Amino acid sequence: MSGAERSGGSSGWVEVSADALQANIAAFRETIGQEVALGVVLKADAYGHGLDQVLPAVHPLVDVLHVVTARDAARVRGWEAARGAARRRVLVLGVVDADEAVALAAAGVEVVVGDRSWRSIAARLAEVGGPTLAVHLHLDSGLGREGFLGEELDEVLGWLHAAGGAIAVVGALTHFADVEDVTEHAYASRQLEVFHAGVARLERGLAALGRPVPLETHTAASAAALVLPGSRCQQVRVGIALYGLWPSRETRLSLRVLGGPAVSLQPVLAWRCRSQAVRWIPAGSFVGYGCTHRCERATRVAVLPVGYFDGYPRLASHRAHVLVGGHRCPVLGRVMMNHLIVDVTDAPGDEEQVTATLIGRDGEEVVTADQLAGWAQTISYEIVARIGGHVPRQLVETAHDPQKFAGPAESG
Ligand SMILES: *Cc1c(COP(=O)(O)O)cnc(C)c1O
Repeated sequence: MSGAERSGGSSGWVEVSADALQANIAAFRETIGQEVALGVVLKADAYGHGLDQVLPAVHPLVDVLHVVTARDAARVRGWEAARGAARRRVLVLGVVDADEAVALAAAGVEVVVGDRSWRSIAARLAEVGGPTLAVHLHLDSGLGREGFLGEELDEVLGWLHAAGGAIAVVGALTHFADVEDVTEHAYASRQLEVFHAGVARLERGLAALGRPVPLETHTAASAAALVLPGSRCQQVRVGIALYGLWPSRETRLSLRVLGGPAVSLQPVLAWRCRSQAVRWIPAGSFVGYGCTHRCERATRVAVLPVGYFDGYPRLASHRAHVLVGGHRCPVLGRVMMNHLIVDVTDAPGDEEQVTATLIGRDGEEVVTADQLAGWAQTISYEIVARIGGHVPRQLVETAHDPQKFAGPAESG
């Protein structure tokens, strides 16, 4: 089937590059060294890249897989069982209920204890008397999200210890509030101090109860893992950088200022679509809702079947570019629910249908998720995580050359 037959009416497709994922993992291994475990964060459907696509590429290469929901942990275990793959450590960062906690213990999944719902969950686990659930205690060192304050720890240890052999505390973690937005990290350093004081208190408490210490500690997400070597502890939890995106401009700058080895990240995702129509409209024509764009010349426009429903941000109206034939083409007027209209007058060729790259490379040109985020006044995290779940994802070895590839087969 030709591309025209395949994807004329679809919202495009997302290509996920296995090579880029592997290169980013290798870059992190080199940065953190042998002593630190590499955890990767697969929450939010692998930051919008598709858990089903990302998992096969990263599973053999990393030490720990972090998810937010018990459901995603079950997806990982299901994938391993279906493939006969060795079990990786899986850690659930988010909220679970008592039934899920019982199931996670049975599946050998570790869980973060980060709020007071665990008082009753611990009691339930003791009652069920199933396999031991390994838990990591979340210490709130200054983000104000999940986790416990230092003075709460003795009480929390009390509930967990009361569950007897049903719960083993194996780790402690915290999450930074202010690494990405700044190039000086005084707040993060204070958080690290608060964390270490909390860990010392926890370990004293556990030892007094005859429980094993020391704990595995982990604090660093992508930015801290890159720019705060002292935060790496025993494990890092790399999210955005796994996908080849820098946490922020400040992180990139900080790394340069620190004079550390250059880290090269390769963007993993490309988002493309085939045009729904390509047409000439006369000079003076308006384009899109609100008549906010008027063509000054006879204009060849491509109508793309992608809009804000699909996760293309409406705030990018009038500002964004897409790539067609290796050429930058401006988005004309407003992004609509299911459409955007781009100016392809200066793009090469005169085909009746074109392939547009919304994020990714086409020839010598690139539109990065960061650029699209800039046009839409947000961050790359939100851009990729919000690409609609209905847009097909496809794991490819390397990013396709859009001039030769017309999109995945209908079933993809
Ligand atoms: C999302 C998340 C991470 C990963 O953050 P990145 O900035 O994407 O690397 C790490 N730890 C926790 C607790 C998270 O919620």
